[in-house]
Amino acid sequence: MVSRRDFLQGGAVLGALGAIGAPLNVAAGTTDMAPPPDLFDAQLLDIDFWVKPRTLSVVRPQSGERAKVLYWKDGEVIDSAYQELCHILRDVNGRETAPIDPKLFEVLWGTQAFIARYGMNQPLEILSGYRTEASNKRLVEEGVPAARKSLHMVGKAADIRIASLNEEVLGGLIRSFRQGGVGYYYRSGPKGGWIHADTGLNRTWKG
Ligand SMILES: [Zn+2]
Repeated sequence: MVSRRDFLQGGAVLGALGAIGAPLNVAAGTTDMAPPPDLFDAQLLDIDFWVKPRTLSVVRPQSGERAKVLYWKDGEVIDSAYQELCHILRDVNGRETAPIDPKLFEVLWGTQAFIARYGMNQPLEILSGYRTEASNKRLVEEGVPAARKSLHMVGKAADIRIASLNEEVLGGLIRSFRQGGVGYYYRSGPKGGWIHADTGLNRTWKG
């Protein structure tokens, strides 16, 4: 599903990381551990990064699920693993699974693999993945930040968090992939906020 050409382009895109991420103040944030200041150093990225097998390590705090899934190898998405990831990103409330845009998994994996180079191996917390129309509508009615025409409803968005990475850094990293929208949801409290990542149009907002 993800062609060789796609991921090669992805490499080129990620190569631009330094230019995009540099202005961010990585030390500012709500969490106790600041990543190293050279987190966005483009020099550290090369083609090797993109050709290695891809394993995504995720947790779903809502359901308590946790999985480490090798989903891409030798230029191909592994179908059974893709299905498993779609299941993890399902609508937990609505109890419905839907196909997730493979490009979204690339963004999530790229994020995780990139920070792993700095010894940060914490799983990606999926706060929300696919949402049924009914679930999304309920969130809107409850006043939870959710767009009426949310890309969550078409399997193209995820709300995520990574322990010890503040919103600024996580959002900046995802933004540098230029694969879609990035929403920053800053919240105080021990867990902090979250980042909305989608594969729609490139845009940024704060919610
Ligand atoms: Zn979202």
